[in-house]
Amino acid sequence: MSKEQVYKNFIGGEWVESRTGRTFENRNPANTEELIGVFQKSDRRDVEKAVATAKKAYETWRLIPAPKRAEIIFRAAHRLVEQKEQFAREMTCEMGKVLAETRGDVQEAIDMSFYMAGEGRRMYGQTTPSELPSKFQMSMRMPLGVCAMITPWNFPMAIPSWKIMPALVCGNTVVIKPATDTPLSAINLVKTLDECGLPRGVLNLVTGSGSEVGDPLMTHPDVKVVSFTGSTDVGRAVSEACAPQFKHCHLEMGGKNVIIVMDDAKLDLAVDGAIWGGFGTTGQRCTASSRIVVHKRAYKEFIKMFVERAKKLRVGNGLNPEVEMGPSINESQLNTVQNYVKIGRKEGADLLCGGNRLTKGVYSKGWFHEPTVFGDVNRKMRIAREEIFGPVVSVIPCNSFDEAIEIGNSVDYGLSSAIYTQDVNRAFNAMRDMYTGIFYVNASTIGAEVHLPFGGTKNTGNGHREAGTAALDVFSEWKSVYIDYSGKLQRAQIDNN
Ligand code: NAD
Repeated sequence: MSKEQVYKNFIGGEWVESRTGRTFENRNPANTEELIGVFQKSDRRDVEKAVATAKKAYETWRLIPAPKRAEIIFRAAHRLVEQKEQFAREMTCEMGKVLAETRGDVQEAIDMSFYMAGEGRRMYGQTTPSELPSKFQMSMRMPLGVCAMITPWNFPMAIPSWKIMPALVCGNTVVIKPATDTPLSAINLVKTLDECGLPRGVLNLVTGSGSEVGDPLMTHPDVKVVSFTGSTDVGRAVSEACAPQFKHCHLEMGGKNVIIVMDDAKLDLAVDGAIWGGFGTTGQRCTASSRIVVHKRAYKEFIKMFVERAKKLRVGNGLNPEVEMGPSINESQLNTVQNYVKIGRKEGADLLCGGNRLTKGVYSKGWFHEPTVFGDVNRKMRIAREEIFGPVVSVIPCNSFDEAIEIGNSVDYGLSSAIYTQDVNRAFNAMRDMYTGIFYVNASTIGAEVHLPFGGTKNTGNGHREAGTAALDVFSEWKSVYIDYSGKLQRAQIDNN
């Protein structure tokens, strides 16, 4: 990667500099001396150009048959397969997660592309009988226009693909603003779609900050849908900004996910799940297992096994195949982690391992932190309620199944939950009673697949879902069509007796 590599905005099918003439740097969180590239620090003027271009392109894109639109997405899926390794490596350099996980991130974009391209020949509506003779009726999806997408850094290609692919196949055009920490992975995705023949203006990308690009984008009167993934605080601001113009607003926000470990659980399996869910992506997943509620009869043994494994995790540069956990994304996120460690100690939780920033040797140039486990946490503590977004797991003892469910549901978020048990009745009871958008039995809180709905309840979401056919509901509106071929006036509800 050249040190001077300058990346541009993508507007109207061309890579262009920002009107501001300003740029920002993107550096490797595992080694901040490594410059990934220089990106456009755009503002409102770039957003206006991009939205106007997308609005114009919508006039023709919406009329292209969906199976033809889908052919471009199919080609992009194949092209992503060819470039998977390169894109994964660039993603590890850009955001720090280990190669196995960045390959998974690109794979998710591949899966979503194939899946949504398939929708080009489905996108099912309904045909129903009419209550009147000689009358036909059906429902069909229609696109909305320009869709704005604002995305976070933790799944830098997967999340943009979850939004872009369904939006395009439905016939919308797009302006995306990726997170400032990970613009390269979004650029790689956009470049791929461009190479596969997407018409000019259908997909546009503008890089820059939330206030200078995100804000004018979501408030622009020509934007019809805003699809946002990020923190709950910013999500609330997005929701408020969309309300006056009744924009369709789709929000995927924070999480405080729970694994429940019952006394009959296979503990080896539960520990595997807790390690993967708690420390995968350095705990920076919206579905991270940041709370483990363990039945008191299994508590001691679970803690022993879990802490032993957490201590052994190899932390470092994600490009090294030996490494199991990378750095935090940036200094501010690392400070948040350190702050929560202080809070947990002050609240009286038992710091069982970790708790420190790693600064020596290979760690000296990055944002590394030890895998950290707190024991004897109670549900009222801030470390048990607030999203930390780092390698910090709280283990909470409980006395019964009912109490575990109550603790599990006691937070403001509702993304993902899991139970480890050999008792089918308990598993089904938990499945019924956990108020989360995603639920697992004998598996960790992470691991969603692209063809089922993805999203959460309470402060995690606003009722919409990403992925699966549910994603089509975000990027289309229903039109009900009635065709009367009786040749006379027929009045529904009146002439049908
Ligand atoms: P963030 O909210 O800080 O930023 C998300 C995006 O919003 C970025 O592109 C950012 O530039 C933009 N933004 C920030 N302020 C803005 C403003 N005032 N107006 C418009 N746009 C603005 O979140 P993050 O730190 O990038 O990501 C971490 C958060 O994302 C966590 O809370 C995590 O749980 C959540 N997340 C949720 C899901 C999910 O599907 N539920 C998935 C991944 C991440």
